[in-house]
Amino acid sequence: MLCAYITHADCARHEMGAHHPECPERLGAINDHLLVKGLLDYMIPYDAPLATEEQLGRAHASLYVRELFAMAPTEGTRQVDPDTCMNPWTLPAALRAAGAVVEATDLVIAGKARTAFCSVRPPGHHAERSAAMGFCFFNNVAVGMRHALDVHGLQRVALIDFDVHHGNGSEDILRGDERVLMCSIFEKGLYPFNGESAVGPNMVNVGLPSRSGSDAFRAAVTEHWLPALDAFRPELIYISAGFDAHREDDMGNLGLVEADYAWVTQALMKVAKQHSQGRVISCLEGGYVLSPLARSVAAHVRVLIGAD
Ligand SMILES: [Zn+2]
Repeated sequence: MLCAYITHADCARHEMGAHHPECPERLGAINDHLLVKGLLDYMIPYDAPLATEEQLGRAHASLYVRELFAMAPTEGTRQVDPDTCMNPWTLPAALRAAGAVVEATDLVIAGKARTAFCSVRPPGHHAERSAAMGFCFFNNVAVGMRHALDVHGLQRVALIDFDVHHGNGSEDILRGDERVLMCSIFEKGLYPFNGESAVGPNMVNVGLPSRSGSDAFRAAVTEHWLPALDAFRPELIYISAGFDAHREDDMGNLGLVEADYAWVTQALMKVAKQHSQGRVISCLEGGYVLSPLARSVAAHVRVLIGAD
């Protein structure tokens, strides 16, 4: 099964300080591990293009996009929120990250790839329609989803978010859009401290308590996500793939392991085969300790390429 691997060198040039967990080395660790495991042999590499203002405008207010362009520093750094800042490479990196999901959408809909993994940063799922926050500037996945809906004319697309943090930005942009089903599992009580109350019929949010572990995660997927996906019959499935719920990642305490990421990816591929012509586009979100991040991505990608 053809799996596109979409990334860009610019994504490793955005940097937010020496000890910031959302660091450039994340992408190198992923690439090295996919290479060592032989998985890159089964993936088709693509350079992520820059997203256009028109593409960004399908998920973000155009005033916000213009403000971010105006804020981008030519030297030094500029703080956007307490955890998030821009260096001179941030804007191109953020445009490549959103452009990657647009490119993945074009490739998968054209039948040039069945699945895609976008290994990009900055991440996107905390970026709201008019706000950068939580290490995120543009909501990469939402930009790609709106491209599928508004440009390619798809009728129903699903977003799955298994990052340990709630995807408040995706929820902010996609709530009320009847063409979208968003399914999310996150740890209660963590940043951004919301998501536990339902905001609309197209949102399936499941907050799990700290130390829930593998069994509770899998039970939540089986009980809440899979029936909703079956009823919705998405034509294409997007994944906000954050790996910070891994038990070796100190950002959260859900206690997942690589096998859980493989398992949930298999469950989603099964839904995709039934309803979506096997089409799945995954985009990196969180995951901050390099070794478990790289191992978890490999477990996820093995399934996307059809090896497991
Ligand atoms: Zn996260």
